[in-house]
Amino acid sequence: MLSKDRAQGCLIGLAVGDVLGCPVEAMSPHEIKTGFGRIEDLVEAPVQAMRDTYYWRLPGLHSDDTQQALSITDILVENHEIKEDVLLEVWKEMAQTVITAPSTKTGRIKKCKETFGCHRGTGSNFRRRVKNTAAFAPPANGNGAAMRVAPVGVWFCRERKARIENAVRSALATSSHPHAAASAAAVAAAVALGIDNDSMNTRVFLEAVANEALLAETFLAEKCADQLHAGYEGRANEFSDALFQLAEWHYLPLQDALTKIADYAKSCLGLDKIFATKSFALTAVPTALLISARHKHDFTEGVIEAVNLGGDTDTIGALVGAILGAKNGLETVPVRYQQHLLAREQVLLRGQALATGRKGPGWICLPELERELTLQEARARSKLRGELMEKGFL
Ligand SMILES: [Mg+2]
Repeated sequence: MLSKDRAQGCLIGLAVGDVLGCPVEAMSPHEIKTGFGRIEDLVEAPVQAMRDTYYWRLPGLHSDDTQQALSITDILVENHEIKEDVLLEVWKEMAQTVITAPSTKTGRIKKCKETFGCHRGTGSNFRRRVKNTAAFAPPANGNGAAMRVAPVGVWFCRERKARIENAVRSALATSSHPHAAASAAAVAAAVALGIDNDSMNTRVFLEAVANEALLAETFLAEKCADQLHAGYEGRANEFSDALFQLAEWHYLPLQDALTKIADYAKSCLGLDKIFATKSFALTAVPTALLISARHKHDFTEGVIEAVNLGGDTDTIGALVGAILGAKNGLETVPVRYQQHLLAREQVLLRGQALATGRKGPGWICLPELERELTLQEARARSKLRGELMEKGFL
């Protein structure tokens, strides 16, 4: 049977990376350095974050990365497989929750504009998709599918074919782009390989992950072509190519390797200003794999490096946290990080369920859990906004 320690390490590690990265999401490494020095523990989001309150997080509260990973976990425990329509139904139910908080100006209770039901921090493609599940999924090439897929790697850690197919299904729910499905398969592979191979050489590990992304791309083309966007063929193997290249240059100094990731993404996406920490599947996922490989035996160093690189800090933090948590186990995730997590107990219960296949006592269903947490955050946001307005900061 799968070890509870690894399964819980994966989900708690994912939540820790998400929570440490949230306050500095979209900041540059220079801004992080100027504002915080080197982040080694939970920091408070800068006041500027309140100007775009959708992305402000209550300290210790996880964002969409963990929410969606928990929803995948619940579906696996209940149904033993991922189906796009079941996943979309869960997210739809969460989107329809009404969240209210006192207005900063009048004190009257109003519906929150800063949440999408009880989803927190989701991207616009995700919101559009959940609002209209009957439409064809958009050709989204971001890291959304990869950020939520880690539980598939745990659940199917010894069944490669099922792992690839379920990772692909979980991606197709929101995206018709091959980068989404291939990146999800890569992350599921990295989680599974970490669980089962303590001493795998880094290059062999990265090649195995790249190979699984390639198998996912083949499965997509053979079995799911009708769910891919028109003209996808030219992009069919771009993602696995990125990972095969990464296996070649992973040993380079960090900045050189990040530049190579960004250059490859630029050439594929035809965009000029791309950093390795941008939220594309083609950037964030190779970067997270690189950092995980560089710190394969050290959860703390891996997550700290991820968060201090700036950019999509919560997702890259969550990816590195999930991969290293699965590889090294719950005991290697420092308690000083775990204790920040507002949903720690429920995340631990879900890790246990991934190992045992059963929900334990005390399990709270996800929409109810997330509704409570989002309400708590909405009230805290409103209070803080009021205080900042009084002091003239807003
Ligand atoms: Mg997020």
